[in-house]
Amino acid sequence: MIEVSGLNKQFRTPVVKEGRFAGLRTLFTREYRMKEAVKDISFTIHKGDFVGYIGPNGAGKSTTIKMLTGILHPSSGEVKINGVNLHQQRRQVAKRLGVVFGQRSQLWWDLPVKDSYDILAHMYKVTTQDKEKRLDELGELLDLKEFWLTPVRKLSLGQRMRADIAASMLHDPDVLFLDEPTIGLDVTAKRSIRGFLKKLNSEYGKTILLTTHDMDDIEQLCERVMVINHGELSYEGSIENLRDRIGLPTLIRVTFNGAYQLPVPDGLGLPIEVALDADHTFRIVEANNREVHIEANRQQVKAMDILRLVSGWGEVADIHMEEPDFEDVIHRVY
Ligand code: ADP
Ligand code: MG
Repeated sequence: MIEVSGLNKQFRTPVVKEGRFAGLRTLFTREYRMKEAVKDISFTIHKGDFVGYIGPNGAGKSTTIKMLTGILHPSSGEVKINGVNLHQQRRQVAKRLGVVFGQRSQLWWDLPVKDSYDILAHMYKVTTQDKEKRLDELGELLDLKEFWLTPVRKLSLGQRMRADIAASMLHDPDVLFLDEPTIGLDVTAKRSIRGFLKKLNSEYGKTILLTTHDMDDIEQLCERVMVINHGELSYEGSIENLRDRIGLPTLIRVTFNGAYQLPVPDGLGLPIEVALDADHTFRIVEANNREVHIEANRQQVKAMDILRLVSGWGEVADIHMEEPDFEDVIHRVY
């Protein structure tokens, strides 16, 4: 449904001079430097996907979203939505897209929320009947009714975000782009936004691309992630694969019923490497009373093989597995 190929964006920025009369000299010499914000990015998003787009500050996320929604023209490359070239037939394609920028509202600051919707509906040429029907649905789904008549500037950030998401849905787009929709929100507001987004995807079938700094957003919402760094895609795939690729270990905590015997000589300090066979090892990192902590790279060793071995050490009462923290994984990618 969304096909992006060889997308590039360069920005021309004036070179800022240093020293005496720097400002004036900058103004008059007109020297420019090219900033490559997005470099040769290609990917495909299918109908009904929920994809996370992550990367550090300045990586090129917002620039990509702006190109995917027709706000910015790419320096080169192509975006096709349902087979139609976005930048050649912007009007036709834009109807199918909705976009939310967490840092900038598209609502009118001093107007009641509802009035903004009236203006937007008019701009998108949504009929009064359709508008009323959708606002009814969205009002329910996003819990908007409580602040329907409140001016936007008086809304809390969480309310404003909900109002903005509704605004982006007024023309009933198939695809929703969300640029940092949970930025600055408290835990409760984040939870409610995530709930709405999940519903929009699973119940209403909307295709969603979301950028975020919040790894919980990604873990709770996205089936697939794309990582962008310095304008380039550095990873695309599932979160599990990302974890594996980075090779952070899974922590396995084994609780025994009573005594157990480790397969290593007493008196050797932990952590210690244990071999399953010539090629596969894991580490015992801690051993106390009734618990043994094991770190294993699940890309290299199967949990089952470890458990088989471990059950020979004593009577296993319980096994607990902890995947590496996503936040750690992401720091390795950046
Ligand atoms: P992100 O959203 O991942 O934080 P952006 O896409 O906003 O990153 O920016 C990517 C890079 O492009 C940054 O170095 C930023 O300074 C630069 N950039 C973004 N917009 C402009 C612009 N209008 N003019 C010049 N440089 C820009
Ligand atoms: Mg951004």
